Amino acid sequence: MKKFANYIDGKLVPSTSKDYLDNYNPATGEVYSLLPDSCQEDVEEAVAAAKGAFPKWSGLSPEDRSQYLIKIAEAVEQSQAELALAETTDTGKPLWLSNAMDIPRAAANFRFFGHAITQFASESHLVDGVALNYTRRGPLGVVGCISPWNLPLYLFTWKVAPALAAGNTVVAKPSELTPHTASLLSEICIKAGLPPGVLNIVHGAGGKVGQSIVQHHEVKAVSFTGGTATGRKVALTAAETFKRTSLELGGKNPTIIFEDCDFDLAVESAVRSSFTNQGEICLCGSRIYVEEGIYEKFLGEFVKQVDALKVGDPLDGDVKVGALVSQHHQQKVLQYVALAKQEGGHILCGGDRQVVVGRCERGYFVQPTVIADLPNSCRTNQEEIFGPVVTVQSFKGADQAISLGNESSYGLAANIWTSDLKMAHNVSHKLHFGIVWVNTWLLRDLRTPFGGMKNSGLGREGGFESLRFFTEAQNICIKL
Ligand code: NAP
Repeated sequence: MKKFANYIDGKLVPSTSKDYLDNYNPATGEVYSLLPDSCQEDVEEAVAAAKGAFPKWSGLSPEDRSQYLIKIAEAVEQSQAELALAETTDTGKPLWLSNAMDIPRAAANFRFFGHAITQFASESHLVDGVALNYTRRGPLGVVGCISPWNLPLYLFTWKVAPALAAGNTVVAKPSELTPHTASLLSEICIKAGLPPGVLNIVHGAGGKVGQSIVQHHEVKAVSFTGGTATGRKVALTAAETFKRTSLELGGKNPTIIFEDCDFDLAVESAVRSSFTNQGEICLCGSRIYVEEGIYEKFLGEFVKQVDALKVGDPLDGDVKVGALVSQHHQQKVLQYVALAKQEGGHILCGGDRQVVVGRCERGYFVQPTVIADLPNSCRTNQEEIFGPVVTVQSFKGADQAISLGNESSYGLAANIWTSDLKMAHNVSHKLHFGIVWVNTWLLRDLRTPFGGMKNSGLGREGGFESLRFFTEAQNICIKL
């Protein structure tokens, strides 16, 4: 069976523990590979390698670092087919989606930050006739990057690329559920000639490897994406060493559909924003609010389209919804459906495990599920499910839409559908969400600030925000 390796100091090595964890293909329910069950000693070695590589890497010009990143971007593109299959085998997502989204966006992250670092200028403040201040932004040193399983290579590279571009050296940990593409990235970095120790990848369990990275006194900052409960632990641990953290956490995102919207587009997009990647995207809308005049019409068309989504083998090009990432997660999602019924919800479609005959009969599939008639305050509407489950409610007027949307401890992304631009601005400004999409969903521009309010996180990623996070500002004041 294939055994993945850690990538430390430029070499592929087993964990010092020599132990391995099982890695499942969630579409078949079978263990198909093993990943190192790494421990604190492995993190120590990775941090030492990163520390050793820092002076030379940070001393390169931005243009030279940029060249390495662009080379890695090209290699990711050349390995697209292998990486996409690996991503699908680890996550259960449709192969066409890995090909269309995950891997191209991972390459784009390296290319984007490779270019961005050459354009990253610092500020200067002139007090006429008195003094000149200028800000110098230097890398922090060794930084940690910890990422989740839902968009494995895409989110891993979203952190690693700006950290490296800014001149830091990195110790990174992918999710233990999805180690495959990070492992292939190690091989890509070796082939691309990335100097040893610049990027180190340690596989294993979050409680051991992740925790050791966050605790380490030599790690100057941690960029973390994952659940809100884990993010809280990371923040508490990081506080002990006054570590800088960027926390991209959970969400419970509203999709708000006004009567004057482009109806067909809104329905089609609501299906996509609810069920893309099995609903396992932090930006998926999971609470749909529809203005009362079109509520019944929307329900009819929405449920018809959701019912038509093909669930099944991720290698089948017609499949729209693949397997959930693990049996544990499948159980969690189904428990939420049971809870919704207890809370008085009516299941309009789905609501059960999906049995897929053939190769995937033991896979972790859940039917796309639509639930109506729940109060906004119930647990189903307040807690993150992170699967193919959405609720639908009606509203009367913009004020009620805003108040229903904001009634959440989360504040990651909101989605509005209307042809009234003035109202779109007004509603967007009153919604407490870090990202608002109007008449579109998941349209990304890597230059924009990305992140959540409230329990959805702390800080922003993207463009110069990422580069600012991964650098330390020093002001120099010269008397004129
Ligand atoms: P998670 O359980 O919080 O894990 C995230 C990462 O943290 C994994 O690599 C995990 O390792 C590691 N980890 C676990 N315990 C840790 C600890 N004590 N210290 C340091 N690291 C630790 O999240 P997940 O289940 O992988 O991902 C789903 C969550 O991520 C959802 O809540 C989703 O909304 C959120 N998410 C947010 C964004 C965003 O941009 N805001 C994007 C994507 C996903 P293991 O895998 O070994 O547990």
